[in-house]
Amino acid sequence: MTPDAINRLVAQLAKLPGIGEKTAQRLAFHVLRSPADYARGLASALLEVVDKVHLCERCYSLHDGAPGTLCAFCTDPRRDDRLLCVVEGIADEMAIERTREFKGRYHVLHGALSPLEGVGPEQLRIRELLTRLQTSDADEVIVATNPDVEGEATALYLTRLLKPLGLKVTRLAQGIPMGGDLEYADQATLARALASRRDL
Ligand SMILES: [Zn+2]
Repeated sequence: MTPDAINRLVAQLAKLPGIGEKTAQRLAFHVLRSPADYARGLASALLEVVDKVHLCERCYSLHDGAPGTLCAFCTDPRRDDRLLCVVEGIADEMAIERTREFKGRYHVLHGALSPLEGVGPEQLRIRELLTRLQTSDADEVIVATNPDVEGEATALYLTRLLKPLGLKVTRLAQGIPMGGDLEYADQATLARALASRRDL
């Protein structure tokens, strides 16, 4: 019989995305075998994330400043207020940040439209985006949602809402990845790359 405490840990770990019952068991036994300080560190890191990290009230990025204050993306005076990049999630925002090419502001939707999964505009931070744009200096909105069905539907929906406001709405160019091979590109990617070709 496994002690209840272990069963409870396994059950909690198994709720994490991509972690099945077996992996959860392996992780639980790993924690048990490790020095007790590791488990204490893990537990306090989990609690710290829950207690200290929250969403910025303007852009909905993660933020560990005092509640009610704005995040570094929103307050950094060196960033360009005229450019606003809309992303589905925090990981997308981080990916764009890593390029060091974008110096505007962000808006995180926290998802993409997906009627099949019951995700409508109300479930995303779209109303907040519209409210924000009423008083912002943004003149271009870059819709950087994913190039999949949900991301495209979201981009189309946003374009219909934002264009009438007199904003320039742009989409990231898509095409052959760097180091990619034309021969192996799928049809949709190649078609997209042709359509978004640029002058040399
Ligand atoms: Zn912010």
